Amino acid sequence: METAARRQVLRLAARALEQRLNADTRDDAGAQRACACGQAARYVGRRAKTFVSVLGPLRLERAYYHCAACGRGFCPRDRALGLEGSALSPAVTRMVAAVGALVSFQEGSDLLGELAGVQVEAKQVERTAEALGAEMVEDEQRRVQPQGTEPLPSTLYLGMDGTGVPMRPSELKGRAGKQAEGSAKTREVKLCTVWSAESRDAEGRAVRDEGSVTYSAAIESAASADADLQGSEFAQRVWREAQRRCFEQCARRAVLGDGAPWIWNLAQELFPGAIEIVDRFHVKQHLSDVAKALYPTAPRRARQWAEQRHQQLDAGRLKPIRQALLRRAAGCEEARKCADYIQRNEHRMRYPEFHAQGLCTSSGVVEAGCKLTVGTRLKRAGMHWTLRGANAIIALRCCRLSGRFEDFWERRAQGRPA
Ligand SMILES: [Zn+2]
Repeated sequence: METAARRQVLRLAARALEQRLNADTRDDAGAQRACACGQAARYVGRRAKTFVSVLGPLRLERAYYHCAACGRGFCPRDRALGLEGSALSPAVTRMVAAVGALVSFQEGSDLLGELAGVQVEAKQVERTAEALGAEMVEDEQRRVQPQGTEPLPSTLYLGMDGTGVPMRPSELKGRAGKQAEGSAKTREVKLCTVWSAESRDAEGRAVRDEGSVTYSAAIESAASADADLQGSEFAQRVWREAQRRCFEQCARRAVLGDGAPWIWNLAQELFPGAIEIVDRFHVKQHLSDVAKALYPTAPRRARQWAEQRHQQLDAGRLKPIRQALLRRAAGCEEARKCADYIQRNEHRMRYPEFHAQGLCTSSGVVEAGCKLTVGTRLKRAGMHWTLRGANAIIALRCCRLSGRFEDFWERRAQGRPA
């Protein structure tokens, strides 16, 4: 009964809205209108088109103009109502963005039908979500002014990380990769995340503040030529996110990452005075991987070995960790590499010292950020992306997860001529 009632109510509302909009013929404003090409377009007549709205299909009649100079036709009302170039109403477009950010395009299409009674084909969910994501890609590049009005926290954290996304073969031609024959199956998404950790847990350790995390990510390069004053694409992205978060203005700044050299090169290039910390979570993962390599057939022994190293790490005892690794280095390449890694990053692993200063050293925020912004949506079984599609959906997710979706939507609606 309730579903049937909703259907009827929506149908009635759709008819009422249709009648109201179709009764208003003020969009028929004279025999001529200026075309985007600069010439005059001629009034042809009223034309009907059916749009998908949250109330169901809406059949709207709008004044149609045609320009003989450039051969294009347009309806001024479509522009005014935000319907230009689309068969979806603004509210449905927004729903599509929401599901497209969260689930596969087919699941999104199913959910829209099931929850909202709105019929949008999977292909159209894909096209619309990717077009919106592309708008967000551009919007992110333009919008660098500080966001939010709250006073700055005493410390801000900026994390960087990378994760692979499976690509279509056509997107990978000529790219070197990790496959046995030297080809690539994935491309790396690079993520920048900013957060604060003023909260404290029961033991007084810094804990990430709820709602303080923002993300910005894309498949792009972090390498920059020396002559390139602008820095790499990713360096510019990090810089923009830092500006939005007033990272440079904060009294204390910390950069977190794993041991990847590109991260520390960027940190020194962009934020020379910041405290550098190797995310403790990453180091532990590294040590656990070595343990598995050392004891491939004895998982209990491996766990034990890793557990001891983890404890030493938390206690800041890097020397015995390196000694334990070097003892096994001759027979185990992973152990040798890990010993090097710890030596290279020693000054970024002074955990007891960092903790005494009230700094957060392993929140898993960066690691979780990769899973949240990229993994859960883009790395699902059978998914293969185009560069453009992946970057659009990543932008859409970052916008939503950073609490910027509402703001984007309002500005998008305002940008429309009345
Ligand atoms: Zn024209």
